[in-house]
Amino acid sequence: MFMRGPHDPIRIERAEGPWLYASDGHKILDAGAGAVVVNIGQGRREIAEVAARTIAKLDYIVPVWTSPEREKLVERLTRWTPPGLARFYFTSGGSEAVEAALKFAILYHKARGKQSKSKIIGRRFSYHGNTIAALSAGGSSRRADYEHILLDWPKIDPTYCYRCPWGKTYPSCEIDCATALEKEILKQGPDSIAAFIAEPMMGSSGGVVPPIKEYWPKIREICTRYNVLLIADEVMTGFRLALGGAQQVFGIDPDLTCLGKIIGGGLPCAAFGGKAKMMDLLAPLGPVYQAGTLSGNPLAMAAGIATVRYLAGHAVEVYAGLEKETAAVAKGVAAAARDAGIKVETNRAGSMVTWFFTGAPVTDFATAAASDTEAFGRFHRAMLDQGVWLPPSQFEAAFLSTAHSSADIEFTVEAARKAFASMLAARN
Ligand code: PMP
Repeated sequence: MFMRGPHDPIRIERAEGPWLYASDGHKILDAGAGAVVVNIGQGRREIAEVAARTIAKLDYIVPVWTSPEREKLVERLTRWTPPGLARFYFTSGGSEAVEAALKFAILYHKARGKQSKSKIIGRRFSYHGNTIAALSAGGSSRRADYEHILLDWPKIDPTYCYRCPWGKTYPSCEIDCATALEKEILKQGPDSIAAFIAEPMMGSSGGVVPPIKEYWPKIREICTRYNVLLIADEVMTGFRLALGGAQQVFGIDPDLTCLGKIIGGGLPCAAFGGKAKMMDLLAPLGPVYQAGTLSGNPLAMAAGIATVRYLAGHAVEVYAGLEKETAAVAKGVAAAARDAGIKVETNRAGSMVTWFFTGAPVTDFATAAASDTEAFGRFHRAMLDQGVWLPPSQFEAAFLSTAHSSADIEFTVEAARKAFASMLAARN
């Protein structure tokens, strides 16, 4: 039994494959894939060795100039992401990549003489990172207190970002999200809107809810019509759902894309990229200033290259394997819930899965929000007691890595059976 108090964080000393080793002797199965970073598991030799070689060369201390590593990672990203993405600029984390993309979208319009296009529309309840602009664009995960903080923030122009409802994505809804976006653009005035940002699939901000087929073509058409840049936040889904990310899976054609997590193989690295013509506007080629002391540092580049090289070289086994394993764990936990008489709806896309504690299908934010979050909290704690770590919110996804063996899948399903049993016992 893994017990801890609220002020007693889990301290991880070592990790290997899907297993985390805590300093108090507990061993925990990581169903969060190192905060989504490690879709091929922890402690990969290929990555550790390449990072060690880069440190040994000592050239990691001069990150400001471009380097062969930086060029190589850009080349690999453009090779594997969808064709529209010709150039990338690196940052140290996903939040910074999103912030840079938002700023770039506004300055892009200014550079083309559209001075008034300075507002961003995001979907409500989305998470795009921890910077002010990213939080404003997303309304960050149902945290009403964030909205409060943002509105009180002295330097923030509350008109900077607007929020479209997300979740009005489905035909059953009174107004679909694409129509809501168009209405918002018209309400604010098309000449004031620089960009629309969204995750390609709800993942970090509601749990797994894939879009319907018609959604993205409609959004693309609306953005083009009103000269609004479409920004895909693939910090979570890039290289996870497929080599080409969720945009490959759902057929999205964004103007700008943000990547993070996996592309640095666990080192601080993220990026935003776009079509060559647009990215030429960035300094030093163009007038839009962009800089970062640690951006594109050789150590992160080396780890990123090793990770992306591995994923591309083993794409079939990696993505087919993740699909198979995650389907098995999704089904197993769903069956365990059913057997225990606990209502759980399972949504999955590739290696991302959310078990919603609700009895009705989850097709949008409203149906996700109807979940019993207290029950999810009990499940999360009971799973941890059984040695399985799940991301701690009902409105997030769990993630597997290729390091999960079939024994680990069985371990997870068995842990869920015991967790559900303990929840029932506590109820009686
Ligand atoms: N966008 C999305 C969709 C994310 O999931 C996250 C992080 N979970 C971010 C942006 C921010 O990335 P980071 O934590 O690396 O700053």
